[in-house]
Amino acid sequence: MQPIYDYHMHTPLCGHAVGWPDEYAQAALDAGLEEIGFSDHAPFVHMVDPGVTMGMSQLPDYYAMIEKTQQRFKNDLRIKMALEADFIPGYEDKTQAIIDDYDYDYIIGSVHFIKDWGFDDPDQRERWDQEDVNQVYSDYYELLRRSAKSGLFDIIGHCDLVKKFGHRATIDLTGEIKQTAQVFKETGVAIEINTAGWRKPCEEQYPAENCLKIYAATGIPLTFGSDAHTPEDVGADFKQAYALAKSAGFTEYVSFSKRNIDRVIRL
Ligand SMILES: [Zn+2]
Ligand SMILES: [Zn+2]
Repeated sequence: MQPIYDYHMHTPLCGHAVGWPDEYAQAALDAGLEEIGFSDHAPFVHMVDPGVTMGMSQLPDYYAMIEKTQQRFKNDLRIKMALEADFIPGYEDKTQAIIDDYDYDYIIGSVHFIKDWGFDDPDQRERWDQEDVNQVYSDYYELLRRSAKSGLFDIIGHCDLVKKFGHRATIDLTGEIKQTAQVFKETGVAIEINTAGWRKPCEEQYPAENCLKIYAATGIPLTFGSDAHTPEDVGADFKQAYALAKSAGFTEYVSFSKRNIDRVIRL
């Protein structure tokens, strides 16, 4: 068994993904999926970096490109229009303006930055050597909670991304994760099992199994995403992700339409 959809994939507009939306859609059909969602990196609100996100002026191109793919595949695949937007404290109004520019199906909110540090950026990896790893983890969890409380997002992306390069906290994070689960519950956000972690130095999905158990026990809605930056990664490791969701205690996952949960699907 595998999830019926993949909600996290990119397009070349972000500057670091390859393959056009039609190719992602075809890959999804080949992988036996019924639905996908494009969630490309929303324009940065705090700087411009064409290698990481599309620019503001490219949003209309994004909509047009995805709408064309929706048309071409309309008899075979449901295609959702979404974004992965960064949570940058102090820039909530600018982020809101981007989100309000289109009738999106869902918005994935992601923490990729601690202050000015793109901690998951391979080009900024050396900075880990100067940082206190435990402090980085607690700063990261604090930002996750603030991102949920911002009310900007429907799904919190890859919610332990901080482990990407294999840096692990030496303190017990259970309290931190439980506190975060409580905030997710109160604010109504969903999480995703993001399979990209299996393709990264940390060699496990985001978030880790101990986190998933806590989120399942707290009743946080679940989604699935491959975070594909190339068509061949659409639906990657989805059977493993499905089994993991069940073993962590989830009994269902959800799909989104126009920023609301439109379907609850049994696992
Ligand atoms: Zn990316
Ligand atoms: Zn991301």
